[in-house]
Amino acid sequence: MKPHPAGAPRAASSDPVRKQFLVFGSPALGEAEIQEVVDTLRSGWIGTGPRVARFEEMFRGYIGSPHALALNSCTAALHLSMIAAGIGPGDEVITTPHTFAATANSIVHTGATPVFVDVDQATQNIDPSLIERAVTPRTRAILPVHFAGRPCEMDPIMSVARRHGLRVIEDAAHAIESVYRGRHIGTIGDAACFSFYVTKNIVTGEGGMVTTSDDTWAEKIQTYGLHGLSKGAWKRYSDSGFVHYQVLYPGFKYNMTDMQAALGIRQMERIDAYAARRREIWSRYDKAFSDLPAAVPSPMREDTEPATVHARHLYTLLLDVERLNIDRDAVVEELKGEGIGTGIHFISLHLHPYYRERFGFSPDDFPQARHISERTVSLPLSARLSDQDVDDVITAVRKVLLRHS
Ligand SMILES: *Cc1c(COP(=O)(O)O)cnc(C)c1O
Repeated sequence: MKPHPAGAPRAASSDPVRKQFLVFGSPALGEAEIQEVVDTLRSGWIGTGPRVARFEEMFRGYIGSPHALALNSCTAALHLSMIAAGIGPGDEVITTPHTFAATANSIVHTGATPVFVDVDQATQNIDPSLIERAVTPRTRAILPVHFAGRPCEMDPIMSVARRHGLRVIEDAAHAIESVYRGRHIGTIGDAACFSFYVTKNIVTGEGGMVTTSDDTWAEKIQTYGLHGLSKGAWKRYSDSGFVHYQVLYPGFKYNMTDMQAALGIRQMERIDAYAARRREIWSRYDKAFSDLPAAVPSPMREDTEPATVHARHLYTLLLDVERLNIDRDAVVEELKGEGIGTGIHFISLHLHPYYRERFGFSPDDFPQARHISERTVSLPLSARLSDQDVDDVITAVRKVLLRHS
């Protein structure tokens, strides 16, 4: 975090809105999850087993995809999807800089080069109109990120991909519930990668999932995810008879465990209730912040395009820093002083040392992503929040922004 600008007021509030700090992104977990974990422990099978299979089946059914493969993170899901696509040294993958490090790191891990395309200011998703001019003879895939749960414009993305023979691998870490024009995210591109990290819409502690309709990709992802061992290798510990495994690829250790899946199974049962709660909180925020020097997230056309659904994973305010006498980092600090935890999603990857130095970026290479990087702040949006918590967030945000406008 940057230091305060000279003369800016200190964060500590003499009369904070909350005495008990509200943690950003605290997951909703109940007795059902606790019981399922206890049952898993008592079953004696805590590794990859029947609960992972059940979680995959539930997820497959929810998304409507022929294959859903559970892994230990979305990062692993992205990496294995790159491998399934055959991406390697010399290749280029088009993606957005307005994302978490894992998106572009997964490209770098294969030896390929991430090629950033700036985002659209309103949606904060990759600008579909800029993708085609980034395609070169080396381009192999497009990796769109459904930022905050708002589905990317998949029709133009898929048509650029088709015209140039590119694969489409989606970072759907925010987008478990997202639907694009009647099609669930996870059923459109070649593969989609989901996250169950602690702050995500449903959680398994750590965890991820890949959905794909391609049998060969599914087989590869599963095999590469467990040391490259021939299929069903985990069964060698069960009572179904001794089976020799064969090493088919130099794979990774990316499998999910039943301890994690125990949480996932119970979280899946409440996925729609959680989404409905976030939608409520979202519209309360929209109403409460309409007069502040900050832009609320652009409205979705869900009224005119009801077949499109925003998963509402992150509520990001875009501060109008020109109308405030403090910068974004100071706002974050003052909200902390009021007892409210926030997040920043994201500082554009081209501004981070590795990407800046390795690829020689300057800050203005992606002006929209840079603009957002300097102004964005994410407010608590977990289904766990009580009405009082939501009131406190609203009171604190209004107090801080009005004090400095
Ligand atoms: C959280 C996140 C990831 C990584 O998910 P993990 O499950 O923590 O590996 C990838 N991309 C985006 C956009 C994310 O927010």
